[in-house]
Amino acid sequence: MSVSLFDLSGKTALVTGSSRGLGRAFAEGLADAGARVILNGVDTTRLEEAAAAMRLAGRDVLTLAFDVTDEAAVVAAFETFDRDGIRVDILVNNAGIQFRKPMLELATADWRRVIDTNLTSAFLVGREAAKRMAERGSGKIINIGSLTSELARATVAPYTVAKGGIKMLTKAMAAEWAEKGIQANAIGPGYMITDMNEALLANPEFDAWVKARTPARRWGRPEELAGTVIYFASAASDYVNGQIVYADGGMISVL
Ligand code: NDP
Repeated sequence: MSVSLFDLSGKTALVTGSSRGLGRAFAEGLADAGARVILNGVDTTRLEEAAAAMRLAGRDVLTLAFDVTDEAAVVAAFETFDRDGIRVDILVNNAGIQFRKPMLELATADWRRVIDTNLTSAFLVGREAAKRMAERGSGKIINIGSLTSELARATVAPYTVAKGGIKMLTKAMAAEWAEKGIQANAIGPGYMITDMNEALLANPEFDAWVKARTPARRWGRPEELAGTVIYFASAASDYVNGQIVYADGGMISVL
């Protein structure tokens, strides 16, 4: 097998929610494999800071701030790409939010916000990307799931439902779009060191639980997911479609 199977030179990748955390690590990995990357988020200051740091490291980076839950904004983003002659060859649907609240105390608006940000966004952005990929007869979509694509956990019901949905949306994309030359796969990270888990990382009991239950005995580092996203973004996975890979230090195997 040739290393060039993983070469992304000449490709453009849009990574939603890539101003920080896992999205930024995905963007850095794809850029290091040769892709031009488009960073996205809602906080424009944070977005431009991330882009500046990546450019300093020699990476080819564009930015476009838009809210992935806003259908009109998503459509407008792709119209901007069309106008500027930018072809999104690789889409990573990564933007997400999480907060903890028991279902009996959960407001409907908060349920909808979590579902919209973690699941409906992947449909909205995926649909715009796939229209263009289908015209060209090729494209790679990588949806970011979670251990909760497989397992329910208390106090994160809408997140769990959204991530379970990501797993099935990935299969639905594969079922409908494989014949158009598009591969859609998903990554299910375990417990990772990012802002999303700031409170949990600072909680000694939760930290001990993660370390005890993860066979790797530690939290994951965002950069450890880069190889998985490069695989799904590259020619190395051209006949792999509709799959979810858990990158979780082995946790899902023992829970
Ligand atoms: P962070 O909270 O660190 O970063 C979230 C990113 O998403 C930010 O770039 C944020 O942008 C962006 N974002 C949030 N809402 C929107 C929106 N409406 N439109 C556009 N961008 C948005 O999260 P993580 O890096 O930890 O998580 C990334 C993904 O990985 C999520 O889907 C998450 O569910 C998933 N995941 C994370 C795990 C973990 O342990 N951390 C485990 C399993 C899955 P801004 O900076 O502008 O706010």
